[in-house]
Amino acid sequence: MMLHKEDGQEAVRKRMVTEQIERRGIQAPRILEAFRKVKRHEFIGEDFKSQAYEDHPVEIGFHQTVSQPYIVACMIQMVDLQAGDKVLEIGTGSGYQTALLSELSQSVYTVEIFKELSLIAQSKLKAAGYLHIHFKIGDGAEGWKEHAPYNAIIVSAAALTIPAALIEQMALGGRMVIPVGEAGEVQNLMLVRKDQKAHVTTQPMELVRFVPLRPSR
Ligand code: SAH
Repeated sequence: MMLHKEDGQEAVRKRMVTEQIERRGIQAPRILEAFRKVKRHEFIGEDFKSQAYEDHPVEIGFHQTVSQPYIVACMIQMVDLQAGDKVLEIGTGSGYQTALLSELSQSVYTVEIFKELSLIAQSKLKAAGYLHIHFKIGDGAEGWKEHAPYNAIIVSAAALTIPAALIEQMALGGRMVIPVGEAGEVQNLMLVRKDQKAHVTTQPMELVRFVPLRPSR
């Protein structure tokens, strides 16, 4: 029988899902399955790999972090991802959440402002077998107009206000989750919905702490 090098981490990852995600109320089997599958440690650099499955954000370089697993799960639950959805992610970062999104929906577009982070994430995602993700390097506040509209948008950095371009690029019936507030303080994780008549509503869901959505360089 072949022993996979991976096996040691699988137990830790399952425990992360049970203790940090399922026990806190996220129960959708599809979401839990995706979190059991994606190897979070592969998206974290050597220096912080030992913290990969801990219950907090982890450094990924350039003063950025990959969010705490539970927060990633909350955001994914809030946008209610369906298999046929087209999803836009702002802040590729480590690529960890990108991998989860691509387990859960068929069409994933992701924008990152730091070229270096995007390139590392691209190579990790390819190595992990995720071949159908579309990457852009640029300012996520502008969204990615060419491929709009999106059924779901997940913004992984805090904005002072919800960028108008992102609201425009939501499909009818679309959902967006975005942390809104000052960087360095607690922000409101907002759920934005656009109904079939293009009427937009926003609703605060959780208090969170995210790195800022940076102005374009
Ligand atoms: N989802 C990521 C979270 C990374 S943290 C993960 O799973 O690792 C937020 C990311 O947003 C960082 O990588 C940061 O560089 C990026 N970011 C910040 N401002 C941005 C902007 N204006 N446009 C696109 N990405 C941005």
